[in-house]
Amino acid sequence: MTEDAKMKKAAGVSGDLKSQKTMSQGLESIDRDYLEQATLEKAKQLGLSYIDVAKSPINPDLLKILKPDTAKKAMMMPFFRIGKRIRIALTDPENPEAKRVLEELKKQKYLVNINLASESGIKEVLKLYDSDQYKVKKELETTYKEKDVEAYEKELIHLSDLKVQVESATSEEGLQLINMGAMKTGASDIHFEPEAKTVRVRFRIDGILHKVFELDSGIYKNLVNQIKYLSKMKLNVNNVPQDGRFSFDLNQRKIDVRVSDIPTQFGESFVFRLLDSEKGLLSYQDMGFQHDYLKKMQNLTNSNHGMILCTGPTGAGKTSTLYTVLNKFNSPESKIITLEDPIEYNLKGVSQSQINEKRGYNFADGLKSILRQDPDVVMIGEIRDIDTAQTASQAALTGHVVLSTLHTNSAVETIPRLINMGLPPFMVAPSIHTIIAQRLVRRVCEHCKVMRSIPEAELKDIKNTVDAINKVRPDLKIEIPDKLPQPAGCDKCSHTGYSGRIAIHEIINMDYEIRDMILKEESSNNILLAVRRKGFITMREDGILKVLEGVTTLEEVFRVTGISN
Ligand SMILES: [Zn+2]
Repeated sequence: MTEDAKMKKAAGVSGDLKSQKTMSQGLESIDRDYLEQATLEKAKQLGLSYIDVAKSPINPDLLKILKPDTAKKAMMMPFFRIGKRIRIALTDPENPEAKRVLEELKKQKYLVNINLASESGIKEVLKLYDSDQYKVKKELETTYKEKDVEAYEKELIHLSDLKVQVESATSEEGLQLINMGAMKTGASDIHFEPEAKTVRVRFRIDGILHKVFELDSGIYKNLVNQIKYLSKMKLNVNNVPQDGRFSFDLNQRKIDVRVSDIPTQFGESFVFRLLDSEKGLLSYQDMGFQHDYLKKMQNLTNSNHGMILCTGPTGAGKTSTLYTVLNKFNSPESKIITLEDPIEYNLKGVSQSQINEKRGYNFADGLKSILRQDPDVVMIGEIRDIDTAQTASQAALTGHVVLSTLHTNSAVETIPRLINMGLPPFMVAPSIHTIIAQRLVRRVCEHCKVMRSIPEAELKDIKNTVDAINKVRPDLKIEIPDKLPQPAGCDKCSHTGYSGRIAIHEIINMDYEIRDMILKEESSNNILLAVRRKGFITMREDGILKVLEGVTTLEEVFRVTGISN
């Protein structure tokens, strides 16, 4: 077999470019032959191999090695590859862009063989980038098959293995590996943070950032281009912040990735937010609602107007809670519209609308628009200004159920927060229906937890809390167990000792007494005392109940409620 024939066989190519193209006859053909002959002579002079690239079959997979713009600028095209051995056709080995690309390929551990080709030949094969074959491939390239994920999971025992794998892969494969690693560990965010010599890669898992590995700066450079290309950012801009997005399919689930890019001292820093829009909604119980808070949540659908507000800092799971509430209202008889940024889940039967601040489609104006669509229930991502607060409150007073979130530390603080925003007490009092405050605590990993007796210092805290709860809610009859779980660490929890999260809550339902207190502008403290008399349990107490059930730890509850012993 000739080398050419071997190449065709190895590349698994069915048709070649020559048979797809009808070459013009006559002069053009003679010109072409002459040019190819001249290129062959030049290759001899330079001591390079020659390739008539237009006649050579090119597997569409090879087009993925270089980006179209790069290939056009460098006037080059890979035409054959086995593993990391690659043969490249180019018109001028002195072309600065070509030199740069060759350096990059070497860094990606490719063994490159250079072949001289004619300009017309390269131009001809560059057209492949515009062909349907390439476009179809491009859509497929971000689909991770189940078997890829399985194979990957087998290989990836510890997250630190990712480093070796990413560094020996192409930037495209490297990015896929990082995305899959994040999905495998249930990470919500991926952070790329350039430092003086290396780039730190961290995953946010169950709300906590974990360093996964450090990446070589040279490899990161290629990764940056890949990220920006994929998320449709301007490749040549690196000194101003940019936003972008891309998505990939994982086991037939579409994962949306929101990408933020900011310039830092040592290079561009990226943060990916992974949004699994088809993830199943949790039940109230699975979310952590218990005792009479569970009943309060179940009763929400009995109301036909009023604001249901979920409060807490960023990352407290507010949106997840509201989605579950929204879904309870979801029925063929009701019209539900949402205004979100971003749309985190897709809900069947709900009109979901994405705000776009840049185009002036913000929460306040968007809400006015969606109210004209005659909804029964509306959800607004967040109330952060008086305009939105006023419209939301008016909607609630005119027979709509309005769901939204607010950044406040506790349920009772939501009342002064709205008043400070500029919403008068006579609107706050009648429009609020329920306020839910929440935080997320990590669950102790079931696979590695160790039971131990409660240390003296912790016992004191726990006893005080339990006494307080039993005073407010004698019906709960809380008792302290002898032993509680302690986190350890195993392969299943990436050695963190924790796996998954559960929410801790406090809920205030409005009644005549509380509304009256708001109208009289009574202090938050007095309102708190009033709800306490009605059996109100604080978020911290709700957390400690979950410690006693062995679900989480005291450190976790203190960490997220901002109270330390
Ligand atoms: Zn574990």
